[in-house]
Amino acid sequence: MGDFKQSGGCQCGAVRYTLNKKPEVIYTCHCTECQKQSSSAFGISVRVEKASVEIKGKTATFTKSSGDKLTECEYCPSCGSRLFHKRPAYEQMMNIKGGSFDDAAWIKPAGHIWIGSKQDWVVLPQGDLTYDGQPDNYDALTQAYQRN
Ligand SMILES: [Zn+2]
Ligand SMILES: [Zn+2]
Repeated sequence: MGDFKQSGGCQCGAVRYTLNKKPEVIYTCHCTECQKQSSSAFGISVRVEKASVEIKGKTATFTKSSGDKLTECEYCPSCGSRLFHKRPAYEQMMNIKGGSFDDAAWIKPAGHIWIGSKQDWVVLPQGDLTYDGQPDNYDALTQAYQRN
C-alpha cells in the first residue's frame, strides 16, 4: 500500500495527474447529474486526499450548486474531460473521476449510490453495497473499500 501510484489525465493530455496514495473509497453514482456530467450511464468517484495528488497542467472550473450542495468541477479547457470534483465542505478531500485513470484495472467500487435512477440495463455485482439515493454518510462504503 505504501507503493501505491496511479496516473491519469484528460483525453488530449494537456492535464495529467499522479495519485500517490490508495483512495479512501471508490463508488459509482447513478444520479442524473452524474449521467449528464459523464454523458454516460454513471460516474465513478475515486475519493482521495488532496495532498496525495500531483497535477500538471491547468484546469478550468465549473461550479454546480444543487440544493445546499456546492461542487467545484474541474475539467480540461482544451478537450473538456471532467477530471476532479471538489466540495468546499470537504477541505482535505477531492474526487477524481474514475474514467480518467490510464489503467482502470485496479478500480473496484465498494458500492453504488443513487441506484433509484440507474439505467435498467446496468447490472450491479451481487453483494455490493447499494443506496437508492444519497447515503447519510460514506462510512460503510469506506470500510468496505478498505477491506478489499
Ligand atoms: Zn485535455
Ligand atoms: Zn452522482
